[in-house]
Amino acid sequence: MVSSPLLPLEAPSPAHICPFDQACSYLDDAGKELQLDAGILAILSSPRKVVTVSLPVKLDNGEIQVLTGHRVQHCDVLGPYKGGTRYHPAVTLREVSALAMLMTWKCALLGIPYGGAKGGIALDPNLYSVEELERITRRYTSELIKDIGPSVDIPAPDVGTSAREMAWMMDTYSMNVGHAVPGVVTGKPISIGGSLGREMATGRGVMIAVREALALQGKPIAGTRVVIQGFGNVGGAAALLLHQAGAKVLAVSKGSGGIYNEQGLDIPALKVYAAEHHRNLVGFPGSQAITNTELLALPCDVLIPAALENQITAENVNQVQASIVAEAANGPVSLDADRALEKRGVLVLPDILANAGGVVVSYLEWVQGLSYLFWDEERVNREMEGLMVNAFHRVVQQAKARQIPFRLAAYTLGVGRVAQALVDRGLYP
Ligand code: GLU
Repeated sequence: MVSSPLLPLEAPSPAHICPFDQACSYLDDAGKELQLDAGILAILSSPRKVVTVSLPVKLDNGEIQVLTGHRVQHCDVLGPYKGGTRYHPAVTLREVSALAMLMTWKCALLGIPYGGAKGGIALDPNLYSVEELERITRRYTSELIKDIGPSVDIPAPDVGTSAREMAWMMDTYSMNVGHAVPGVVTGKPISIGGSLGREMATGRGVMIAVREALALQGKPIAGTRVVIQGFGNVGGAAALLLHQAGAKVLAVSKGSGGIYNEQGLDIPALKVYAAEHHRNLVGFPGSQAITNTELLALPCDVLIPAALENQITAENVNQVQASIVAEAANGPVSLDADRALEKRGVLVLPDILANAGGVVVSYLEWVQGLSYLFWDEERVNREMEGLMVNAFHRVVQQAKARQIPFRLAAYTLGVGRVAQALVDRGLYP
């Protein structure tokens, strides 16, 4: 495997699976399938630019704390860099680099004119006040001022961030350049140029991917038993939309615990309950509490990991009972587990396809901003659905034509498009 000279190795703990090595492994597989030139593969195996910044922040109690932030720009051969900003204690440079690489393939697969990037700060946002988070976000944005911009690199929300952080980033960037630049971020509030439909977009895309996969197997969505790990922006929206489409959502979870009802949970009522109980789900009437391990092993038709990386691994993959696994999170199935699911004939809808609804609506937000237009939600959803369904069926055709698994099919389409663009542009100088 080609490794990147820009990324330091991190000491692996025994159970640690390096997300960047995994991402390179999938790239290698696609490279082999496409018989890519070794030089092209080497270019794509390394991020183009890695920025690590030190972030001194004054806490509310007057103390100074120094945090570390990253922005990794993997590839911009197809257009400006694009990708979320993650606030989570487990953020590392290699993780952010893996996620940046995934963004490149995701945008290429969906046919949107972006390259891939990702940012992150290693912190637990629950441990900071809103004022502290604002100072952290503004300092992080100022440190990246020369590296981002509406035609350079466009951040968006990811785990631990939302429209609120995007508003702070947009304001900081705009104040620094001296005029309002809404297009510097996507996923921002509607009041400053955000798009209708963006908040639910990733979950809606997951629902569309699941619906298409079920149709492929000749099954209706009504009555399908679904289990979702996560109930945040992505898992919560997917749960609601699948519920509305007639699926039975049997179980969902948060970091604080999961709940289960064999007959299906009342998702709209659960949303109200979570909002009233500090986002805790446990105790929801008519449900029983379950652990994360139990949740992943529940009998169901569709399992949707919508939390973090490496949740389904060699250790628990044999307990998975679903016939479809939809990767709503980025990288939730480890490489070993992916191979095991493939052997068992489980259909894995890869992250770069299943969760692409978010970046697709980011793109639609950016397009609306650049053209000074504001679309109604129906139009946004329709355009997104068109791009998702089209990509889904291109992956199906590729898998059939090459007799390869779904993930590899998606990768060959994404990687292939970027590789072709690299060849067409040629190497500078
Ligand atoms: N963070 C999301 C993702 O992983 C969205 C990125 C974006 O909208 O730029 O796809």
